[in-house]
Amino acid sequence: MSRYMSSRFADLEAYVPGEQPQDRQYVKLNTNESPFPPSPQVIAAVSGEQVGMLNLYPDPECRRLKSKVAACYQVREENVFLANGSDDILNFAFMAFCDKDRPVAFPDISYGFYPVYARLHGISAREIPLREGFVLAAEDYYDLNSNIVIANPNAPSGRAIPVSDIEQILRTNPDHVVVVDEAYVDFGGESCVRLIDRYDNLLVCMTFSKSRSMAGGRLGFALGSPGLIEDLNKLKFSTNPYNINRLTLVAAEAALDSQDYYRENCRTIMENRCYTVEELRKLGFTTIPSLANFIFTSCPKCSGVELYGKLKERGVLVRCWDKPALRDYVRVTIGSREQMDAFLEQVRAILKEG
Ligand SMILES: *Cc1c(COP(=O)(O)O)cnc(C)c1O
Repeated sequence: MSRYMSSRFADLEAYVPGEQPQDRQYVKLNTNESPFPPSPQVIAAVSGEQVGMLNLYPDPECRRLKSKVAACYQVREENVFLANGSDDILNFAFMAFCDKDRPVAFPDISYGFYPVYARLHGISAREIPLREGFVLAAEDYYDLNSNIVIANPNAPSGRAIPVSDIEQILRTNPDHVVVVDEAYVDFGGESCVRLIDRYDNLLVCMTFSKSRSMAGGRLGFALGSPGLIEDLNKLKFSTNPYNINRLTLVAAEAALDSQDYYRENCRTIMENRCYTVEELRKLGFTTIPSLANFIFTSCPKCSGVELYGKLKERGVLVRCWDKPALRDYVRVTIGSREQMDAFLEQVRAILKEG
């Protein structure tokens, strides 16, 4: 930190994204990207005319995309907020709804960005312990008297809770915002979007990064009551009205026209997840039941950090954490069948080595 930086950031520890090494080709199973390219329509949409229009600002209201998202999720345009990745949405949500009188609560084991946003905005955060086996017990979130952020399915466990649990949390916290981060909902989870008409304190965050093969395009959206959406827009228009670039806007519109393609890809990922879990079980691994495009699994022979290191030497990237509760596990993104076979082959070789 230079002597010029504001002291209010002295305690801030930045989020550390999964590594994106450039040194060699890895079987890359560490950042929950899709192994599939964007749909042919998406590739066509960003290749032509729009590139030649980069001299012009994009539509700050994102009207065409907003109306497509609304149609796709059967909500009204005033229920839709769009931003530069769902990280951008979460940042705006923390900024908009939390302060020293309105703290935030989230699980102690969840998406690593939540505590970073809390600190960035000087918000006090209560981290609620998960139960045994990374189980989120809804009753731990009743009557909290604070805003709440829950990833459903949760990370890095992949565990999901039913919409009825979310509804109870909404019902018992009527004066606070409940953000449900559904980044991974398209891999078998149940979305709570249908509750936005009944609960004006619900904000559902989604992203094009995982199930729609657009992590590099940076597009997230939130669905919620018109009041919440207006609040988020106020902050977006006070920060950067053009936070979604022209190419990403047309790419996302084309992605919404390619629903069948992405649905099929999600189905393949779910099949590959089932296959990988079963193969790991035969090798003595214990895997947390996942409804996401990753699994959280523990090796019978070595710690998560050790397995991560051995896999990396062999050209396979996964993710691990050095926290006591997570030490036994690695998080493995579910990729193509070929990627999973390559991963499993290296795991078998590592176990044989002893
Ligand atoms: C990947 C992820 C995000 C961020 O997604 P982007 O849209 O790429 O910013 C948000 N929340 C969770 C739980 C995620 O895993």
